[in-house]
This record gives sequence, C-alpha cells and structure tokens, in this order.
Amino acid sequence: MPGTSADRRLVAIYPGSFDPLTNGHLDMIARGSRLADHLIVAILKNMQKQPLFSVEERAEMIRDVTSNCSNVEIDSFEGLLVEYAARKGANAILRGIRAVSDYESELQMALLNRRMRPEAETIFLMAAEEYSFLSSRMIKEIVTLGGDVSQFVPPVVSNRLRAKFPR
Ligand code: ADP
Repeated sequence: MPGTSADRRLVAIYPGSFDPLTNGHLDMIARGSRLADHLIVAILKNMQKQPLFSVEERAEMIRDVTSNCSNVEIDSFEGLLVEYAARKGANAILRGIRAVSDYESELQMALLNRRMRPEAETIFLMAAEEYSFLSSRMIKEIVTLGGDVSQFVPPVVSNRLRAKFPR
C-alpha cells in the first residue's frame, strides 16, 4: 500500500491571515505541531483586505510565541495555497473548525484544494471549547471600540494592540 513507509513525514501548512494571532490560533499551532513532523504557519498576503498588522509584524508576533516549538516554521505566501504547498513539499493543510458556520466554507475550500492537488490532504482540528468563540475579526472590533482583549490573545499581541489603539 502506498504511503505506509515508516520514513513518511507529515509536513503540514497552517494557512491564515492571523491578523492578529489569537489564543485560538495558538492552540491550533500547539496541537498541529504535536501532530506533524514539520508545521509551517503560512501568513496569507491578501491584497484585497486592509490589514491591521503588516505581514512582517504578524510574522514577528507568531515567531515570538512559537520560539519553543522547534518544528514550527513561520512563512508567508501569496497566490494559490496548493501551489505554495507543492513548493514547500507539504502533504497536509491544517484548518480549524469553530462552529457549523465554519464548516461550509472550509468544506468547499478543502474539496477545491483536493481537486487541484490530491497529494495535500486537509486535516481539520476542532477548536478547543474555550477558544471556539474567538476570531481575529472580533478582536479587531473590540480594540477599535476601546475594549481590553488581553484574555483572548498572547501578551505580545495585546501589547502591540495597545500601542496601536491607546485607550
Ligand atoms: P482566514 O483569513 O483564512 O479565515 P484566520 O487567521 O482567521 O484566517 O484563520 C485561519 C484558520 O484558523 C482557519 O482554519 C480558522 O478556522 C482557524 N481558526 C481561527 N480562529 C480559531 C479558533 N479560535 N480556534 C480554532 N481555529 C481557529
């Protein structure tokens, strides 16, 4: 049977905007890095969206909080995820499901990606209960309205947000 060789490595890409990184993303990275031999956190350079943090700033924050995970790499990409996965030699794409609302779009994306590149299997992790309500969009909304998000994001993110939105 193909793919049963003992030396087969799981190289997974965890793609997203991470604008900004939340404790939910961090939990996904921690769990993904235990599952995969090598995990690439890949920041999507989305030209359409007006980001809160630059790709470099986002990479710095993710690097800061994952410095203790030796098998985690931080990178960024633009264009098609499956082409990026091929360039990186990845055989898996990691995504998180928070609620039924995530399921529909995630399923569509996973099926499309599988059609384009069957070699990369999408692996879904269910969000941890305590983070399942967290999204970058809500964090942005709270900080722009002057709220405190320190319980939802790592301290490095919370500090950068405070610098951007002094209360
Ligand atoms: P995108 O712009 O692709 O939605 P995000 O950074 O918001 O990027 O999310 C990247 C991935 O992380 C997605 O699969 C999303 O479902 C997952 N994710 C986001 N927030 C959480 C969370 N709180 N818990 C688990 N997974 C999450």
